[in-house]
Amino acid sequence: MPQCRHCGTENDIFLSLGSLPPANTFLKEGETARTLPLNVFFCAKCTLMQLEDVEKPENIFNDDFKYFSSYSSSLIGHSREYCNMVIQRLSLKKSDAIVEIASNDGYLLDIFRKIGYNNLLGVEPSGSVAKEAISKGIPTEIRFFNDETAKELSARGKADLIIANNVMAHVPDINSFASGIATLLKKDGTATVEFQYVADLLAKNAFDMIYHEHFSYLSLHAMDSIMKSNGLFIYDVERLKTQGGSLRVYAAKIGSKRQKTGNIERMLDREKAIGIDKQSTYSKFARHANDKKQQGLDYLRGIKEAGKTIACYGAAAKGSTFLNYLGIDDGTVDYVVDRNTEKQGLYMAGCGLKVYPTGHLSVTRPDYVWILPWNIRDEIISEHGTVRGWGGKFLVMVPEIDVI
Ligand SMILES: [Zn+2]
Repeated sequence: MPQCRHCGTENDIFLSLGSLPPANTFLKEGETARTLPLNVFFCAKCTLMQLEDVEKPENIFNDDFKYFSSYSSSLIGHSREYCNMVIQRLSLKKSDAIVEIASNDGYLLDIFRKIGYNNLLGVEPSGSVAKEAISKGIPTEIRFFNDETAKELSARGKADLIIANNVMAHVPDINSFASGIATLLKKDGTATVEFQYVADLLAKNAFDMIYHEHFSYLSLHAMDSIMKSNGLFIYDVERLKTQGGSLRVYAAKIGSKRQKTGNIERMLDREKAIGIDKQSTYSKFARHANDKKQQGLDYLRGIKEAGKTIACYGAAAKGSTFLNYLGIDDGTVDYVVDRNTEKQGLYMAGCGLKVYPTGHLSVTRPDYVWILPWNIRDEIISEHGTVRGWGGKFLVMVPEIDVI
């Protein structure tokens, strides 16, 4: 039985999505991908939903990692709002030390830099994206963040603000990560941590949010336990619409002057009401994932039997899990388009769909453009109004099958 990565308790697997290639694997013609089991379990003691460990993280995240944050325009908008909000809320001075963990290509720190903040540091393990940040003038340490990294960095100075967006779920040793935040934070500093919210995943039956790089599926219950056992406490929480539904928590060191808001208890109560701390909630989710697979396959079969063509939009992680769990290949979907030039010309692992630039849609004029990153469907639909010109329709499969 797999052991909880936070509290060490042994638990049973409740959902197995099969043996799939790691989500961000892109292949050249003729190459085949290795596959790894994608098994999910729920810890009855600390409530953390998580993946069974099957691979060392350094074998999953590497210099070939193709995700450049600056490619998503909705993410940039969200980041600008965040910077303005946090500067006001924490009364940040221009000289205050701001550290971002998993700073990617530096898009967020660059917003602070342009406002006049000059004590900035990014920490990013992926060399290809970190170099992009350094070339923009954002100092960046190319390494994984954990307690050991935090000790070294804090010898050079502690942080007034630590930002960790969409990274905590991707860390196998989640305790070392949290204790690293406590190590690097000033006595009255704040860490803001954003993560995909497991309550939204459950409510939307979004099994496509599950992939090998995503080790933990976090609730406020689980996050509260992780923070508390590593010298931190959560003093406020907000819901966000990003990534299909996220939480942002504000954490400070135990002993800090920060006061808890009433939002914490309210959200913990709400989580209890939807059964986030109960094994049965997760068993139900597993049944729904299987139902959704059947419904999706039936729907696509109907489209093909009517002689229509389908192309996918967005060769991202969500799409990889969805396509490979359903067992879809180029017999059903002709190809996938993506804005990221690094992915273009390669093939998505498993399903084998070739990645084209978005302009390829107007060349082949498919009847259906199936949007895989359904969380940014409005952005994609508004940017590709030309699809309507040839009578094409947009399709999403999550939360429900919907033709737009
Ligand atoms: Zn646990």
